[in-house]
Amino acid sequence: MQRNLDLRYVVIGAGMSGILAAISLREKGCRNVILLEKAKTVGGTWRENRYPGLNCDVPAHAYTYSFAPNAEWSSYLAPGPEIQDYFEKVTADYRLHEIAHFGQEVDSCAYESGVWRITTKAGMNCEADVVITATGVLHHPRMPDIAGLDDFAGTIAHSARWDEATPVDGQRIGVVGNGSTGVQLVSALGSRADKLSHFQRSPQWIMPVINEPYDEAQRDAFRRDPALIDAIRYDEEYLANVLRFTEGIIRPDSDEMQFIETMVLGYLEQGVVDPVLREKLRPDYRAACKRLIFSPDYYQVVQQHDVDVVIEGIDRIEAEGIRTRDGVLHELDLIILATGFHSDRFIRPAVVTGRGGVALDDVWRKHATAYNAISLPDFPNFFFLNGPTGPVGNFSLIDVAERQWGYIEQLLDKVTTGECAEISVSGDAMARYEEARIAAAKGTIFASGCSSWYLGKDGVPMTWPWSYGRFAEVMAAPDFGDFDMVTAEVAA
Ligand code: NAP
Repeated sequence: MQRNLDLRYVVIGAGMSGILAAISLREKGCRNVILLEKAKTVGGTWRENRYPGLNCDVPAHAYTYSFAPNAEWSSYLAPGPEIQDYFEKVTADYRLHEIAHFGQEVDSCAYESGVWRITTKAGMNCEADVVITATGVLHHPRMPDIAGLDDFAGTIAHSARWDEATPVDGQRIGVVGNGSTGVQLVSALGSRADKLSHFQRSPQWIMPVINEPYDEAQRDAFRRDPALIDAIRYDEEYLANVLRFTEGIIRPDSDEMQFIETMVLGYLEQGVVDPVLREKLRPDYRAACKRLIFSPDYYQVVQQHDVDVVIEGIDRIEAEGIRTRDGVLHELDLIILATGFHSDRFIRPAVVTGRGGVALDDVWRKHATAYNAISLPDFPNFFFLNGPTGPVGNFSLIDVAERQWGYIEQLLDKVTTGECAEISVSGDAMARYEEARIAAAKGTIFASGCSSWYLGKDGVPMTWPWSYGRFAEVMAAPDFGDFDMVTAEVAA
């Protein structure tokens, strides 16, 4: 079938999913693809996060593009800098620098008479027939509302603004927050600090995980035989764990969730010897309500004599350290704020306006959403990768993005073959999707009574609330009846 390869594409964001989109478009022969990136290089979250101990809790060979396997991973769970190197290598291998524009943060993106007009803060202007927003979720650091943040005399930094030159060895370190980031920081710094205090507002359930290094002989075997990589990527036990997790979160009373609860409870009971510390670490909400923490050694590290878990609330930060509400001053040289991200921003603060001047900010006034996490009414040929209401959890977001891209490609086929000039979900289908999604989301484990970045302002999870199998099925075959397809004459 004849395809128009001259359509103009703008991909916003050169993180994991933007790289995927740009490569896929170029591999299809699309001649006009522009990749806009606000920072100086690719990598998204792996570029932004450089804190000690950063790694990915998804097996490295599964957190890899299906078209670019990597025999060089140093361990089962890869360290963050290695993942960043991987994305830089893939970018170079596919010559994305030919189409990438760095230091170009999108300021506005407006649809008018069949064309998207994009401007950047640095003054670049471009037009597009199709926009792919691949701006990520976790990239606007959330500074905590703690009094005295500016009063500290030592070094204070958010985990996503970490300067690798900051001294840590022999320092008195305070880590605030115990999500995946805070736990990884404590694991990495516990043995390097003179004294480490972990300030915990709510305890976390911890899932034990074994992280084995790959030696040179194994890497050599991976290089020679890609089937060995596939055996890890598609390992039955790993896939069973993913399935168990994704089934468990949508059916909180299922055997799958009970299995997870038994695992994390057993780990807490057996992994923490001191009963006082064990009670400090015991959550009062259900496992997987917050994103599960996978850690090979957090419990061991917090049992070291020079590591403290501080559960008294933080009163304020002073020049010498953190004062807790019981009046105690915890004297510190370094404070790391592992306090998370504003997860509802997506492409914002860029100002996006669709057909008839509809503002994205207005559409998302209550909460960010998109039909099947991909499309919005009145935003024609405008698609999200890893956008709002997509699957989140303890599995590979690369797999999520690849499936989403497969769906977007099928939508784009309608445009490139000339069947229509524009495609976007219909208002009716969007409303039906959102109603069903919210109803299902309220029944997931994420809504079972805890605080987390999965929840919207109204307390409803902003996530994909159905099974991963359903996600895969939906992504494999779009229901075109749910889409408005507009011909060129009407669009103009
Ligand atoms: P997070 O999960 O949102 O955790 C933020 C932490 O900061 C929570 O413990 C929170 O306490 C605490 N906090 C926030 N404000 C506070 C305040 N004013 N005073 C005291 N404590 C405060 O953030 P994150 O750990 O950066 O992780 C975010 C997400 O990044 C993860 O869920 C995951 O999706 C991703 N991530 C993935 C990996 C990986 O290995 N794949 C690694 C790191 C991060 P409360 O719980 O009480 O709110």
